[in-house]
Amino acid sequence: MNDIDRIVTACQDLVQDVSFEAARKWKAARSGRKVIGYFPVYFPVELAHAAGMLPIAIYGGGNRVALKQADTHMYSFMCSICKSTLELGLSKRLDFLDVFVGTPICDAARHMPGLMERNVPGLLVDILYLPANTRTGLAVPYLRREFDRLRSLLESAVGHSISDEAIRDSIRLYNLSRRLVREVYALRRQAPWCVSASECYSLVRAGMLMPVDEHIPLLREFLDLAAKREGRPLDKIRVVYEGGFCEQPPIEFIRAIEEACYVVDDDFALGARLISADVPEDADPLSSLAESYCNGSSYSSVQHDMRHLKSDGLMKKYRSANAEAIILSPAKFCEPGLDDQVHHLKRAEKEGIACLQMEFQERMKDFDGVRTQTETFAEALLFYANEATDASETGTAVAEGVAR
Ligand code: SF4
Repeated sequence: MNDIDRIVTACQDLVQDVSFEAARKWKAARSGRKVIGYFPVYFPVELAHAAGMLPIAIYGGGNRVALKQADTHMYSFMCSICKSTLELGLSKRLDFLDVFVGTPICDAARHMPGLMERNVPGLLVDILYLPANTRTGLAVPYLRREFDRLRSLLESAVGHSISDEAIRDSIRLYNLSRRLVREVYALRRQAPWCVSASECYSLVRAGMLMPVDEHIPLLREFLDLAAKREGRPLDKIRVVYEGGFCEQPPIEFIRAIEEACYVVDDDFALGARLISADVPEDADPLSSLAESYCNGSSYSSVQHDMRHLKSDGLMKKYRSANAEAIILSPAKFCEPGLDDQVHHLKRAEKEGIACLQMEFQERMKDFDGVRTQTETFAEALLFYANEATDASETGTAVAEGVAR
């Protein structure tokens, strides 16, 4: 196993471990320190880090947890991440957690804190009310107050105060980590044969489960090795993937797409990358975090800002990645994702961009359908691209591409 495979395998193992052994060990080695779990999409990890806690993303059980009890607590047409997160709690896999925070991003997620509070004894549960509409001038001061409330909650959990300076130090660390993640994405857009989507995904997700000061050297090492990787472009189409902002597809699903396509950008694990520029490091830290969430973040299906159309955000991503097509693939039963799919599809049609629509579920285990769909889609696009080249060389007219 080479060094890059070693890093990626370690990240994958961490992501797929539904017993959370690494977080348990972290806590056992540090007497009195606490672990906080947060439900997607966004959580201000800086506050938890400044409190001396380990913040970890609780993003369901993927396809490694069987639903034995959670199904009885939830209706059948609910997204899988909510069910499997509750299953983690009911099956005592989260018994090491001290605090759990959810955000009411949709009808399904708004019930998660209540369900966790009732079903996981001893867990301190809170709801972080992020502003649904970030356009209003009241959003930033409102969110600052909400972050201040969260700071008080964390102070009572850890038994000491959290200073502004400690939060500023945490902001500096997370800024650095987000910068390095942006570099990994930039390298992937430029040379996807050096960094695959599944590698990038594992690396970013692992960062949501380990201390940031351990993730930073890992990102640096990965970047260094990936930039030197030898490789050459294969005959694959370049696609942008949209729909993985909350529930995450299985890694096998991403790999199945990659067999036929270079996935040059995506919205997987968006919470880790939602803040798209450095948070100011020397100002009032809570205001800086609030300002960055409202005015310095990427578009997402769970944030509404009428100043910027989400489809504009997708077009910008598509163009910056020099992509040739878009895969629109929200999670099954994900209402915000399905809503946006309609707008994104209309926009793509208007712009003449080829789109493949699929749905996924974190629990899926059979990927033959995904493989066939993406292969067929990619082959059709390559076929029409070749036809267009031949036609321009011979002066023949080309029929409209049916893949559109
Ligand atoms: S996957 Fe979609 S429906 Fe489910 S919690 Fe996330 S945003 Fe809500």
